[in-house]
Amino acid sequence: MLVNFKRVTTLVSFIRRCSTLSKSLPELTKDRYPNIKRGDYAELNQNHLDYFHGLLGQNRVLSDPSDCEMYNIDFIKGVRGYSQCVLKPQTTEEVSKILSFCNQHRLAVCPQGGNTGLVGGSVPVFDEIVLSTSLMNNIISIDNISGVVVCEAGCILESLDDVLREKGLMMPLDLGAKGSCNIGGNVSTNAGGLRLLRYGNLHGSVLGIEAVKANGDVIDCLSTLKKDNTGYHLKHLFIGSEGTLGIVTKVAVHGPSKPKSLNLALLGLHSFENILQTYERAKNDLSEILSSCEMMDERSLDVVTSHLKLKSPIGDFPFYMVVETSGSNEKHDEEKLNAFLEGVMSEGIVADGTVTNEPGKMRAIWDLRERITEGLLHDGYLFKYDISLPIKEFYSLVPKMKERLGSDASRVSGYGHIGDGNIHLNISVPEFSPDILKKVEPYVYELTSTYKGSISAEHGVGFRKPPYIHYSKSENAISLMKDLKKMMDPNGILNPYKVLPS
Ligand SMILES: Cc1cc2nc3c(=O)[nH]c(=O)nc-3n(C[C@H](O)[C@H](O)[C@H](O)COP(=O)(O)OP(=O)(O)OC[C@H]3O[C@@H](n4cnc5c(N)ncnc54)[C@H](O)[C@@H]3O)c2cc1C
Repeated sequence: MLVNFKRVTTLVSFIRRCSTLSKSLPELTKDRYPNIKRGDYAELNQNHLDYFHGLLGQNRVLSDPSDCEMYNIDFIKGVRGYSQCVLKPQTTEEVSKILSFCNQHRLAVCPQGGNTGLVGGSVPVFDEIVLSTSLMNNIISIDNISGVVVCEAGCILESLDDVLREKGLMMPLDLGAKGSCNIGGNVSTNAGGLRLLRYGNLHGSVLGIEAVKANGDVIDCLSTLKKDNTGYHLKHLFIGSEGTLGIVTKVAVHGPSKPKSLNLALLGLHSFENILQTYERAKNDLSEILSSCEMMDERSLDVVTSHLKLKSPIGDFPFYMVVETSGSNEKHDEEKLNAFLEGVMSEGIVADGTVTNEPGKMRAIWDLRERITEGLLHDGYLFKYDISLPIKEFYSLVPKMKERLGSDASRVSGYGHIGDGNIHLNISVPEFSPDILKKVEPYVYELTSTYKGSISAEHGVGFRKPPYIHYSKSENAISLMKDLKKMMDPNGILNPYKVLPS
């Protein structure tokens, strides 16, 4: 079976919707971060372009600056490169030839999927060639019995999920950017999302990978087996390495069965302590049917109600939770959920709430949570941090940062995956300011490290965090990462300036 997705309009409209927010272009990364120096790479010339035209044809090589612009700017408009060349291969063989050529000619390459990454990893820092996987979007096979889907890296997550759902299956991950992000980008960032609590991370769900190394060698580890203990588990090198060790071209993912019964509750709570109590009760009372447990503070909800004009079905509270159950028996699940809700409300842990199994109402509740990032962009410039913390300290950074920044910040807010101990701390300011940046970093990472958290829970390290990776990884671990990088990409052409400190 080969299903080809026409590039769905959601990608274009999602990115356009967000580009209209700021008419002016963000400052070039090289100017905003003058300490980063361009590596010793070749500059693109006509001979290079002639080779790419010969390989891909005219239409799959973009070199007009206006065509290249959206590939140079990241989703939150915090970084901007000035690449003059975007390549759109359609096959693994083409990716292999491109990389082999770039390696020989020392041309740096920035792999890009849906460009929804939030750490500046998906766009060039200087003039790296963008290799977009957007046209590699075929589903190769779906095995209804095992639930394994094999597809190309450029498949859009939501489109994959739609196809699987028609067959009684689903994708094991779900995130706010699903209408635009690509499975190759998801794998390369080891994306977490809204249901990691239930289905675990991609190191578990991804069964196989095909990837192309910097020198063009194709590494075929596209196993569809659940168990395969032959030698080193090389696929894990590509999961979460953010395009620095190779370009993912195909993946095999295990899709769980689509639940027959779904319920969603939006709860209002008076304190963070109440969130912890509710989460603990949800784990115990709902156990195997609990599929998502999210939290947001009032300032996070405010961005979607005030900027995006979404309506909340419950009154105003300092904190909110979204609790989802999914299972196979509607009556059983409803009974369990009702007993849980009655318990937490009668004990005053939850102040108010609404529960629904109607698809439209569930979508409206999910929008309140999933569109927060989009809403925050209306505030101005966004300093965005994705942090893992021990559960008791989950919310500690928000009040601390609020106090530290005072009137410098127009909004300090927090929301995230409470069930995974992963908070998204957001600091909104009218426009980028290096002075505010100095107040926030490295303080935010020092604090995270003091609490024994991780400076990146699910978004990765990208361009924004390499100087701070030592807060979460030991010197020897970083040194081994550098050795691996050198071995797999000796010329350093793949996504330079990202992940590893220079
Ligand atoms: C509204 C919104 C909500 C989000 N919610 C979540 C969330 O809940 N959980 C979460 O984890 N993330 C979330 N993200 C971040 C982002 O969507 C994820 O990181 C996603 O996995 C990126 O996929 P992409 O296709 O857009 O990759 P890109 O942004 O294009 O790239 C991300 C990184 O992967 C590399 N890359 C991309 N494709 C390949 C490839 N084929 N081979 C090798 N390297 C590649 C890029 O070079 C870059 O370093 C969210 C983003 C937005 C805008």
